[in-house]
Amino acid sequence: AVAVEGLGHAFGDLEVLADITFSVDRGTVVCVIGPNGSGKTTLLRLVTGLIEPDEGTVTIAGESDREVGYLAQQPDFRPQFTVRETVSFYGSLVGTETDVDAVLDRVGLGAVADRRVNALSGGMMRLLGVAQTTIGDPSLLVLDEPSSGLDPTMTRHITDVVADLAAAGDAVLLATHDLRSVERIADEVLVVDRGELVATGPPDAILAETETETLEDALTALA
Ligand code: ATP
Repeated sequence: AVAVEGLGHAFGDLEVLADITFSVDRGTVVCVIGPNGSGKTTLLRLVTGLIEPDEGTVTIAGESDREVGYLAQQPDFRPQFTVRETVSFYGSLVGTETDVDAVLDRVGLGAVADRRVNALSGGMMRLLGVAQTTIGDPSLLVLDEPSSGLDPTMTRHITDVVADLAAAGDAVLLATHDLRSVERIADEVLVVDRGELVATGPPDAILAETETETLEDALTALA
């Protein structure tokens, strides 16, 4: 669904990413991991088209008119809207016919469709953010730390929802610090360190390559 080739970016004199190449296929989850400040969010913003790359290309191929659905680290919703209104409002921004119930059912929010956003739990709010990215059936879903700050149960639930979206055919690019979830759902892991791709591959391959038991240890070994 998306091919990234030789991507590089600097903010002024600060070179944040260099020579990043990877692809995300339909039906797969690609996870970007790495220390704070390594360039994960910048990479996601480049793929989404929110920032123009200094070098390299992002090619998005798919039948959908909508290229990318993006969930920012700090999504902002209108607190007085209901869940249903939020989805239809966003659908109108995107410019597609939206089956609101179908969108909410995909993330398990059907039961709270008429609740106001300011009455949702943090986890439900994130699910609503994930739901928004799926509106218009984009070629790629880009999720920036969808489970940050949530408790383990909710983190697991969000991770399962994301895995279900991929199992239904979506292409997902996800940045996270939650390495347990990565071990569970990533088809491919991109390890970024100081703006460089220092390892790529399925979780098992990265563990084998670094001779470690967990991705946490692998990150330490690769740093
Ligand atoms: P975290 O895990 O903490 O979210 P990250 O891996 O997502 O970090 P980025 O947010 O992509 O990292 O930041 C990479 C580097 O680029 C950091 O040094 C950051 O300070 C810098 N940076 C990010 N955005 C900008 C910007 N708009 N202007 C200048 N520097 C920026």
